[in-house]
Order: sequence, then structure tokens, then C-alpha cells
Amino acid sequence: MRSAGSSRTFAPFCLLFALSHVARCRTVHMTEIRATCETCGDLQLGVDDLTLRLCVDTAVGEFHFTCAECSKVTAQSVSGPTFDLLQAAGVSCDEWNLPQELFEQRSGPRITHDDLLEFHGALNDDESFAAAMDSLIRES
Ligand SMILES: [Zn+2]
Repeated sequence: MRSAGSSRTFAPFCLLFALSHVARCRTVHMTEIRATCETCGDLQLGVDDLTLRLCVDTAVGEFHFTCAECSKVTAQSVSGPTFDLLQAAGVSCDEWNLPQELFEQRSGPRITHDDLLEFHGALNDDESFAAAMDSLIRES
């Protein structure tokens, strides 16, 4: 519902998530965000009840919240315009980066199942493990 002047209405963006309206409460704007818990159904949340997460490397965003009724965590990807709208409404945002290991140059043959079995065996064999550790120490 849209009322003249003090409140704004945003159209729903998806089934699980919608920013329902901004209502004026005295001099403070209170933002209510409608989200859906898979177990409990539709919920009304404040900006402090959910958090945005943005992967800086891929620019993919999501929001997540913990349901006050069942304590289940719900996470949902969110499109750029919706992300921006939530951030502008005051929802906090955590930024993160992909692990640096994803950008490492790799060389050598791929690790095989046999390599893993051999490694597992070496971990359970004290003499092999000690020999491997000695080898690593000598190389460094
Ligand atoms: Zn719930």
C-alpha cells in the first residue's frame, strides 16, 4: 500500500523476498523487509535482522537472516538492484573475497585416487610419516 507523503512502497522482487514498505515513525524511518522462512513462512524483518554479503571478486550478492521463530538460517541470492535497495535502506553488508588458492598457477600431474590412498596409508604409518616430515624439512 502506498500512502501519500511519508511512506514508500517497493514492488516485490521475488517469491522469497520483498521490501514491503518504508513507514514513518515519528522522525525515524522504519524499514520493514518481508522475507520468507522455509519453515515458518512470511516474516517481517527490520534492517538489523538480516545481513547482505557481497563477493567482491564476482559481484554476486546474497542476504541471510536467522528466523526468530525456528532459528533456521535462510540465505538467498539477490540481484544487483535489490541489493542496492537493501543497502540503501540500511542493511549491513559483509564483503568477502574468493580464496587466493583459486588464482594460483598449478603445475604437475593431477592428484589421483591412488595418490590419496598412498597418502592415507603414509599418515597411518609412523615410519613413513616421519620419513616424509624429514624430507620436507630437508627441502626447506
Ligand atoms: Zn522459521
